Amino acid sequence: MINLEKEVQYIKTVGPNRAKLLNKLNIYTLGDLITYFPREYEDRSKTKKICECSDGEEALIEAIVVSRMTEIRTRRMTISRLMLRDETGTCTATWYNQTYLKNIFTPGKKYKFYGKIANKNGRIEIASPTYDIEGETKNTGKIIPIYPLTKNLSQNTLRKIIEIGMNEVYGKLDETLPNRILEEYKLFKYNESIKKIHFPNELSEFEQARRRLAFEELLIMQLALLYLKNQYKNDRNGVQFKEEAKMSEMINLLPFKLTKAQLRVLEEIDKDMESKKNMNRLLQGDVGSGKTAVSMISAYKAVKSGYQVALLAPTAILATQHLESFTEMFEQEGIKCGLLISSLTAKRKREVLEELEAGKIDILIGTHAMIEDNVVFKNLGLVITDEQHRFGVKQRTKIVEKGQNPDVLVMSATPIPRTLGLILYGDLDISIIDELPPNRKKIDTFAVRKNMEERVNGFIKKQIEEGRQAYIVCPLVEESEESDLKAVTTLVEKYKNEVFSEYRVECVYGKMKTKQKDAIMQEFKEGNIDILISTTVIEVGVNVPNASIMVVENAERFGLAQLHQLRGRVGRGEYKSYCILKYEGKGQNTIERMKIMTQTNDGFLIAEKDLQLRGTGDFFGTEQHGIPEFKVANLFEDLPILKQVQDLSISILEKDPKLELEENSILNNKVKNKFGNRIEI
Ligand code: ADP
Ligand code: MG
Repeated sequence: MINLEKEVQYIKTVGPNRAKLLNKLNIYTLGDLITYFPREYEDRSKTKKICECSDGEEALIEAIVVSRMTEIRTRRMTISRLMLRDETGTCTATWYNQTYLKNIFTPGKKYKFYGKIANKNGRIEIASPTYDIEGETKNTGKIIPIYPLTKNLSQNTLRKIIEIGMNEVYGKLDETLPNRILEEYKLFKYNESIKKIHFPNELSEFEQARRRLAFEELLIMQLALLYLKNQYKNDRNGVQFKEEAKMSEMINLLPFKLTKAQLRVLEEIDKDMESKKNMNRLLQGDVGSGKTAVSMISAYKAVKSGYQVALLAPTAILATQHLESFTEMFEQEGIKCGLLISSLTAKRKREVLEELEAGKIDILIGTHAMIEDNVVFKNLGLVITDEQHRFGVKQRTKIVEKGQNPDVLVMSATPIPRTLGLILYGDLDISIIDELPPNRKKIDTFAVRKNMEERVNGFIKKQIEEGRQAYIVCPLVEESEESDLKAVTTLVEKYKNEVFSEYRVECVYGKMKTKQKDAIMQEFKEGNIDILISTTVIEVGVNVPNASIMVVENAERFGLAQLHQLRGRVGRGEYKSYCILKYEGKGQNTIERMKIMTQTNDGFLIAEKDLQLRGTGDFFGTEQHGIPEFKVANLFEDLPILKQVQDLSISILEKDPKLELEENSILNNKVKNKFGNRIEI
């Protein structure tokens, strides 16, 4: 039995000092060590002729040593030189302060050298090459893994330690996937894949090893999600809403014509609601695509069928906003809406709770306050959550438990590429509104550098003079990062006291008390603030139609999907609206990203590009989505694997919905290990 929990310092050649360095890389145990995967590889398996080597590249040459080592000593260092030759040319190998090399090489013998080539007017040099004697493959002749490092830990040392660790475990690691799956999908065994992802003999072996490890990660995630979905679906029969409660009655009351996409989505929801099965549906759509309208119509059907509806919003201000639009539509129909947020007075809260329990309130709109135990519905039939990424699955479940298996509709404005959404939200069915209502004005987006600052400020002033309002957003990735916080504070002071001193400028940031934040947002909504500086993502979904300009500072530090969300705060009214992205840096990637933002307003396209340019680690970053991070898998590149894995998961769970069969015990353990707290809800 191999002990993967063994502390890393007890691995040969490590010891306490190196262990400290390894800890910095989050390597604490033998298990951590062998799953610390390379960042990239250097192919030192193919030799090049000297004359083929180009300036700046890393190359492997096979050459005869034609001179003795010469040494030049300066005050600071010793430079050692060696002349090499193959049948196409000559090359000088150079080392610094490595005098022990002096008697290693024998003139007339053949060696392999790997290093960085400098080609200056045909004079070829190879700098500090590693080498092997003919026939040996200690440092060359293979593919070398390159690991992310930390200060004072060299690539060679880390590689050596991992090699020692691998030798301890190789062949003794328990298999982590059932044999039948390995065979069916022609996957490497676990032992093989761990070895080859570190030390492949050929790149194709690395590909195979990687594929196997990604397959496993994705399979476990997918099984967990589908397992969750099965729990909703199989164990419970849900509410069956009435056919006679027609959505069309409500649709006819609307002051606008629904888009085709809205109608299609409503049809899907209608079908779910009338069916015996529980609805668990994700409603995705770009900001402003009309999700709220869809939720209203769904709520109407629920109420007309004799049930209560809960609408859960992430912030008090959003809840209040929803209450306004719902009341406007529903009051005339005799449907009563109520608000439950934590800032209500105790008396008001008591009243709301009483009315709710008595069934006098048909639609309760609110925040987390709704989740508390003292909130009792008479007959909850439909739960709608807005901006679901703000809520954990747990919160969603808690409110759902206040009814007899109510239907659930989850709304999200975070555009996720369709293919991915299908998989990542495996526990939900998905409806997508992929069309904006007509006559939406395009938001003109400009990407500018610092030298345009004056003009940008002038432009903001002009908009304010015309009666509009502006948002200025600063990146504050980590509020704990002092340098960040300082930069933002300085900027806010500058805007408040200098640049825009004649206007009403306020600032909201994440760590502020909710009450205070809401108060400022409300003031902005009412037009009492001209410029709102925000150090955090402005409340998603806040509707201030008079705001016509959004400036984003250091836009290069935001993800594209996030920028797109931010941009959605403007262009909500009748006024022509603008988004100005101030950016720094000349990186190709930055420029490309800014270009995409200025060229398209399509959230899904932007999400797709974002994923491509940033990789999934960043895209899903933070805890925002509650989506697991992967060590190997990349959701963009590994879409084909994802599809295979999805089919496989479905067939496994069809046969064994609770993963109870002996043949699935390995999988069951893995799923529980990884997603324990999500599964147990
Ligand atoms: P979302 O919740 O998806 O961000 P909303 O439902 O808030 O979008 O819709 C944004 C605005 O567009 C609202 O003022 C809403 O009344 C309006 N709206 C929704 N659907 C339509 C439509 N089909 N035609 C015209 N306006 C619409
Ligand atoms: Mg139903």
